[in-house]
Amino acid sequence: MSALLRSPLLAAARSPRLERAITRLPVSRSVVARFVAGTTTADAVRTAETLLRSGRFVSIDHLGEDTTDLAAAEATVAQYLDLIDALGRLPHAEVAPGAVRPLEVSVKLSALGQALPRDGHAVAREHARRICAAAEAAGLWVTVDAEDHTTTDSTLAIVRDLRADYPWLGTVLQAYLRRTEDDCRALAGPGSRIRLCKGAYDEPAAVAFRDRAEVDASYLRCLAILTAGSGYPMIASHDPAVIAAAGVAVVAAQRKTEEYEYQMLYGIRADEQQRLADAGNHVRVYIPYGDQWYGYFMRRLAERPANLGFFLRALAGG
Ligand code: FAD
Repeated sequence: MSALLRSPLLAAARSPRLERAITRLPVSRSVVARFVAGTTTADAVRTAETLLRSGRFVSIDHLGEDTTDLAAAEATVAQYLDLIDALGRLPHAEVAPGAVRPLEVSVKLSALGQALPRDGHAVAREHARRICAAAEAAGLWVTVDAEDHTTTDSTLAIVRDLRADYPWLGTVLQAYLRRTEDDCRALAGPGSRIRLCKGAYDEPAAVAFRDRAEVDASYLRCLAILTAGSGYPMIASHDPAVIAAAGVAVVAAQRKTEEYEYQMLYGIRADEQQRLADAGNHVRVYIPYGDQWYGYFMRRLAERPANLGFFLRALAGG
């Protein structure tokens, strides 16, 4: 059932017509609030403070993607600078050099102009550089999200360039891509921070595993490479099988608590997040906020029939 619905829901995630229709539904905002921490910088910071008090770390994402307008990309940078300024005032921003930073922002290069018809790659790189410079000054980390496979080469090249100045800059690899095992090998070196996820887009079989079991097996192979490497693996999954395998892999690699972390999305498996944190693990929660929640929300519906059921029940008033 979920496999049948995944492709249409992911196609709907990219439809401006459906976006207009769904974002106008009176019920949408209250349903979306389960996965999205409000619309303003103050909302995001308030949510971050609550999670930090519970012993979890945060990575905050200003929602937006696929920008084809330079002014919108510049507005996104301004939003991030405002967010970083506010987060930098929290006591958690004071960290020793080289230590794990509890505060992080996540950025999508397509929101920074990567898809602009002229010089998109260079525009996104320079926008990301401004965000990294502000984050460095404020005591935060930055991780660059992974988007659809047509952007992977450009994204990894931008991260490689920026790491010359900001060696702590993290990026995301998606286990469903056939190339990712090789990317893990290439990027498992000293200082690298790699968030390993399964992957959230609808990718063709030519570049991606489409069978769930194949994706899971790829994840475990990639996890083994990253945990045996000398970087900082960020294990981003809600899957109990992945979390159990990661627990075994970090022990086998003799990693200390501060040499890896678990990551989950805001609003998903909050009890498990807290259980892992209470057991002494580093757990980072990815917190999206902002008006442009549609694409993010639809990808969450595509992942899990229970999320879709929750949305449909709310629409029906149940
Ligand atoms: P799934 O394969 O979706 O689920 C496996 C099992 O996990 C389920 O069978 C169930 O047992 C359990 N589970 C899952 N959800 C729930 C739930 N709500 N309640 C209870 N049990 C549940 N994708 C990208 O493409 N690019 C990115 O940059 C990116 N960044 C991410 C950052 C973070 C921190 C996280 C956690 C995910 C990110 N993703 C990203 C999304 C990711 O690729 C997956 O689409 C998403 O995490 C679902 O995969 P999964 O590993 O959690 O487990």
